[in-house]
Amino acid sequence: MDFRKFVLPCLLVGLTLLSQAISATGVERPPNIVLIFADDLGYADLGSFGAQDFKTPNLDRLAREGARLTNFYVPASVCSASRAALLTGSYPDRVGVTGVFFPTRAKDGQPAGHGDKGLNPDEITIAEVLKEKGYATICIGKWHLGDHPDFLPTKQGFDEYFGLPYSNDMGWWAGQPEGFKKDFPPLPLLEDENVIETNPNQRYLTRRYTERAVGFIRQHSEDPFFLYLPHTMPHVPLFVSEPFSGSAKYGLYGDVIEELDWSVGAILETLRELNLEENTLVIFTSDNGPWLSMGAHGGKADPLRDGKFTRFEGGHRVPCVMRWPGKIAPNSELDGIVSTIDFLPTFAALAGATLNAERKIDGMDVWPYLYGAVEESPRDTFFYSPWVVRQGNWKLMLAGKYKEVFPAPTSGEKGGMVTYDHPQLYDLSNDIGETRSLHAKSEHKVLIETLSKLCLDYQESLKTEARPVGTISAE
Ligand code: MG
Repeated sequence: MDFRKFVLPCLLVGLTLLSQAISATGVERPPNIVLIFADDLGYADLGSFGAQDFKTPNLDRLAREGARLTNFYVPASVCSASRAALLTGSYPDRVGVTGVFFPTRAKDGQPAGHGDKGLNPDEITIAEVLKEKGYATICIGKWHLGDHPDFLPTKQGFDEYFGLPYSNDMGWWAGQPEGFKKDFPPLPLLEDENVIETNPNQRYLTRRYTERAVGFIRQHSEDPFFLYLPHTMPHVPLFVSEPFSGSAKYGLYGDVIEELDWSVGAILETLRELNLEENTLVIFTSDNGPWLSMGAHGGKADPLRDGKFTRFEGGHRVPCVMRWPGKIAPNSELDGIVSTIDFLPTFAALAGATLNAERKIDGMDVWPYLYGAVEESPRDTFFYSPWVVRQGNWKLMLAGKYKEVFPAPTSGEKGGMVTYDHPQLYDLSNDIGETRSLHAKSEHKVLIETLSKLCLDYQESLKTEARPVGTISAE
């Protein structure tokens, strides 16, 4: 074979294609990924998103050194469904997880359902995709995708798990009001698949999760790693360790956020110390909007309407900051639509993993947008549910049952919730607070038909391309 005539040109073409591929994405080697997921933290609960009554200096630094995403969405406004979507890159209805799992089995005399179900082990999660590419993987914190051993993180691609398998109000805890949900077992703290403590002192959960996260990073400083840290806080009931008690003007809720911020700082400091900053993508966001009916124990979503449980912006639009020095432009604001369902295909692309094209997912690789290779987010359409869609700046809510939360009237008291069913249309470009529905205006008839068709097509796709929730038989 003539080296000059054949091998050399082939080599040059190969090198050119490789350098073009690198320059299009800027990625030379798979990054470590740290994904921190707060629970019920609202759109306005970070300093960089307008929080006034408590301080989040480490999260603000993360935003300064990276990007703030101001149109970032979770596809469900409750815990389990939001987590299922994040880990599978699919809408909740696609994977059969639309509500919340409770730790009750059919044998407990509870209605069949809740505790006998979990995210289907057949689903392909982010952890499985990355593990396949040699990543070390860990889940630390609130899992909430099924607490039966068949459904735990170790069955979904995570090498290790440490944390509470579901919400911290689904069990017994210190200071619990008399008669409150006593039918649940004592709250378990798990190491992999084993209960290592029951009813752990929740004051120290954030600290213990952080210590575990820092230890994991140190242990895997030579590997690519995926650290998924879904915090238990600031889900009610709120707990904080002593150094943070009374630290914020906004009471216990502010204290809890300041401890979460400390946790982020400890992780960032560890990455810096180990020289891993340049090769680590760090993301902080929340699983859904604030629990407004909890009064002073809930967060804020201003200027958005409403919060958790609802289809309004405050339920689904959450703060998101992400940093990867040298890749994501510092101090940038990205206002394109991006969702947690986009993480799986985006991380897969960064890790060089190929997804199975036969398996329908809803997420998109948004790396070219985050990296700045393209100006517009690839995502212009987002479904809050099969009946609610945003395209561009228009949001349509078809006629259906919609919840609206009444915030608590005074500190400490609980608010309430109402349901109504009229269709609504909002222009989010000049009505971010969803105060003026334009649904009745005749000039929007064609627009409403177009958006309705999106919902109907999506509903149709769920008939043929939805997968079942995981179910165990009664024991
Ligand atoms: Mg939540």
